[in-house]
Amino acid sequence: MASLLYRSAANVVRRSTLISAVRMSSETPKVDPERGKVASDKVSMPDTLGHAVGAERFELLARLAGNEDPFDMNVKSRAKGTVDEPTLIPSLYDSRIVGCICEEDAVSITWMTLHKGEQKRCMCGYYFKLVPLEYKDYGQ
Ligand SMILES: [Zn+2]
Repeated sequence: MASLLYRSAANVVRRSTLISAVRMSSETPKVDPERGKVASDKVSMPDTLGHAVGAERFELLARLAGNEDPFDMNVKSRAKGTVDEPTLIPSLYDSRIVGCICEEDAVSITWMTLHKGEQKRCMCGYYFKLVPLEYKDYGQ
């Protein structure tokens, strides 16, 4: 019986030592994961920012910093649209779906998928090109 107790206690000590060693060796996060998530004297429960993660949190932090269009989703007027000066479309990813209103009175939108590193010509003649979106760190 004593040996069983000794083995059980030894296993518990070994496991907790192992877990502590792993936790101590991991790098500290580069961002503050607790920002907006910790209760304070004024707030007893995390707010919307505190509950948000990932892209939603990025968007909320960007809006707090004054950027109302963090993903560049607003309608933009076309640039010159030639082969040498295509309309630049920013994206965080390798491809993006773009809609072109080819004529002023058009009742439909021409949709196309742009891929990183290639120019695409709409049927109206304008060229579009995907460029990387400038990533801004809002202290996620
Ligand atoms: Zn077009």
